[in-house]
Amino acid sequence: MVVIMEPGADESQIEQVIENLNQRGFDVHRSSGVQQTVLGAIGVQPGFDERIIRVLDGVSDVQRVTEPYKFASRSWKGEPSIFDINGVTVGGKEVILVAGPCSVESEDQINATAAHVAAHGATFLRGGAFKPRTSPYSFQGLGVEGLALMRAAGDRYGLNVITEVTDVSKVELVYRFADVFQVGARNMQSFDLLRELGRTDKPVFLKRGLAASIEEWLMAAEYVMSEGNQQVILCERGIRTFETATRNTFDLSAVPVVKNKSHLPIFADPSHATGIRDRVIPMARAAVAAGADGIIVEVHPEPAKALSDGPQSLYFDQYVSLVAQIRDIARAIGRSIATVAHS
Ligand code: PEP
Ligand code: MN
Repeated sequence: MVVIMEPGADESQIEQVIENLNQRGFDVHRSSGVQQTVLGAIGVQPGFDERIIRVLDGVSDVQRVTEPYKFASRSWKGEPSIFDINGVTVGGKEVILVAGPCSVESEDQINATAAHVAAHGATFLRGGAFKPRTSPYSFQGLGVEGLALMRAAGDRYGLNVITEVTDVSKVELVYRFADVFQVGARNMQSFDLLRELGRTDKPVFLKRGLAASIEEWLMAAEYVMSEGNQQVILCERGIRTFETATRNTFDLSAVPVVKNKSHLPIFADPSHATGIRDRVIPMARAAVAAGADGIIVEVHPEPAKALSDGPQSLYFDQYVSLVAQIRDIARAIGRSIATVAHS
């Protein structure tokens, strides 16, 4: 951390800042120029609030040179993290496809969708059994029944199962049915939930919060990782901005930014990012081009009858077209679509 003193800071102010830093366990290196004094503070701990120093008398600015997160950072682990999830390699050269309905609605619906996406490149089946809906009057999911239907469909068609866990009390239950825990955008900062998932041995698919900065998102990953579970997959799903033409604003620049700051795999969700099915294919192409390690999309046998997120759910033929298009994009950047289904 670098502390820049004001040009007019006097000796006693400088001394007080040094003393404060020393008391907090920092080693301080002082460099005094003609105009200004700069203090280099070594030994900053993750989580240190630099505003403590910024507000001291005579201080002009404080700049961190290290990230506030550790396990999630590139400086901690230089190589990309690659996870083997039941025979599917996530974070490597292959681009992963996660597809399925927003919510599990019935046995026929989940089976038909699973059969279709498994036949066309998907290695993971998505679907919510516990839905974090904005309105308490909207469909809340089938609960345990939905989990069981998803597990059966995943096993039948050789797909890994990813589903959302909405709170700590459901971790054990979801663990029994899922291969990957999804943490939804609305729960990105449910710290107790993140900690609890950090004590499990299954990967966590961590969506970016609606109004979360990239740093806050990586700090959320840090909550999971600091408990021991290093298997975190990040997912950009669009953020809130002033723009209303799409459901959210797809922050695709987050993909290369995260790749630079973290070793964790990053996926992209063009369904929730755009909210309109006709916008999903172009943005899926863009996400793969930007370097996403995987794409998660909503697909439904009859989108018009879907109980949640119908307007953004792809028709089966659109999904086939999406896969063909992103296959071409992946090839153009030296990647391919993963095809190995789990056994
Ligand atoms: C979902 O995947 O259906 C979902 C609710 O996503 P998000 O948390 O990104 O809104
Ligand atoms: Mn949805």
